[in-house]
Amino acid sequence: MQYDAIVVGAGYAGLAAGLALQKAGKNILVVEARNRCGGRILTEYFSEQDYTDLGGQWIGPGHERMYQLAAEFGVETFHTYDSGKSTLLFHNKLKHYKGLIPPLPLFALLSLDRALSKINKLAKTIDLAHPYQSLHAAKWDAMSLQDWMNMQMKNETARKMFAVATEAVFATDASNISFLHALFYIKSNTNFDFLMNVDKGAQQDRIKGGAQSICIKMAAALGDSIQYEKVVTHIHQDEQGVMVSGDGFSFKADQCIVAIPPAVSTEINYTPAVPETQWQLMRASFMGTVVKCYAVYPSPFWRKQFKNGLVAAPDELTSLVFDNSPFNGSKGILMGFSLAEKAKQLMQHDQATRKEIVKAGFIKMFGPEAANIEYYTDKSFTEESFTKGCYAGMFPPGILTQLQTSLTTPFHRIHWAGTETSIQFNGYMEGAVRSGERAAREII
Ligand SMILES: Cc1cc2nc3c(=O)[nH]c(=O)nc-3n(C[C@H](O)[C@H](O)[C@H](O)COP(=O)(O)OP(=O)(O)OC[C@H]3O[C@@H](n4cnc5c(N)ncnc54)[C@H](O)[C@@H]3O)c2cc1C
Repeated sequence: MQYDAIVVGAGYAGLAAGLALQKAGKNILVVEARNRCGGRILTEYFSEQDYTDLGGQWIGPGHERMYQLAAEFGVETFHTYDSGKSTLLFHNKLKHYKGLIPPLPLFALLSLDRALSKINKLAKTIDLAHPYQSLHAAKWDAMSLQDWMNMQMKNETARKMFAVATEAVFATDASNISFLHALFYIKSNTNFDFLMNVDKGAQQDRIKGGAQSICIKMAAALGDSIQYEKVVTHIHQDEQGVMVSGDGFSFKADQCIVAIPPAVSTEINYTPAVPETQWQLMRASFMGTVVKCYAVYPSPFWRKQFKNGLVAAPDELTSLVFDNSPFNGSKGILMGFSLAEKAKQLMQHDQATRKEIVKAGFIKMFGPEAANIEYYTDKSFTEESFTKGCYAGMFPPGILTQLQTSLTTPFHRIHWAGTETSIQFNGYMEGAVRSGERAAREII
């Protein structure tokens, strides 16, 4: 039997591609390496009604397809808790503030503000479809995001605060990323403010039941057209079609969509070989490192002190903290992001030690009540061989302008999807869904 199309990967991109093809009447198969759908999305229930989102979780304005999918599958969303004061923990001093601007010395604030406006202005000039053809592509690709930050901000406090933000956005040290790629990513996601903000930003809304609940319903809608525990190791194409195979299975189709991160898809053996520049681009794509650290409390006790749970703490291993409590506040859940080099440091310890480290940080931020953790869990996707890191693939300096090619260009019968191939909302669930639907359109 020969399918019309095979989709490799059942994350948001693969699921969206599969459903779009199914709707168009195509005979399809989705093959997934893990025993579950969702990929970088993983909702873990620790009681009958309470859960943590160990992978992606937030959606915000402009994530149109995600809101539409939620509505289509009867899943509700709710606003991220943000009433009350935010907290800055810096040089071991706590400061509480309202609004978006942290209480920093004036020079630091001015420098930060200038850097933010400038990076947004520069991002606007990027050609999203061909970032390497942007006006100053060569200059910006030759430098890292850190190089630009060093040039732009002479004030050390401003640089440190900006680094907290860039680590939160990219999950890697700013010295690893091409400034051109950073600008592409910022424009792809509207602007830097959108990436950072809760209200009107990428962290505005959460998904009731967890971000995986939509994936699970999408997978159910695919029915028997999805098969789990099928690790694709070889994709062969010729005039007759494409053969997708792995240990103990082999499926034939007219077309194939590969909906997995580039850093993972280079482990598949393609015959004939993927064109050299595109292959080099895929191989250059690297993932960041994040640990999401969850502490569950009997109640969101910080809300009684008019704190919204949002903390920026540049010196802590969990440098950004959010209130991740259930929508009705039936439990108190703090989620701390450990990012980039700090995430690597944290993961050198066993989970019991990580819990103690995170707890000590939360006590500094929220007082002694933060010691009463009922349940602790954490997760890094770096250890998972079908993901290799997060949130999404990025490029180091020099690659984009040297290779001048795209992850998206189809290779005969192979079409590429996954959030990394999206020019809009790259790196996010929204980008993943749009990429899957775009790849499906290439076939339909
Ligand atoms: C910790 C973390 C926090 C994040 N926070 C957010 C957030 O708040 N909001 C947001 O929008 N985004 C967030 N993201 C990013 C978001 O999760 C991703 O952009 C999105 O889920 C990517 O979907 P995808 O389908 O492109 O890829 P994936 O989800 O990676 O799916 C790829 C699938 O392919 C499978 N696969 C891999 N190799 C093979 C193989 N050889 N054979 C068969 N199958 C294979 C994998 O198992 C996986 O299921 C976060 C990510 C992480 C990790």
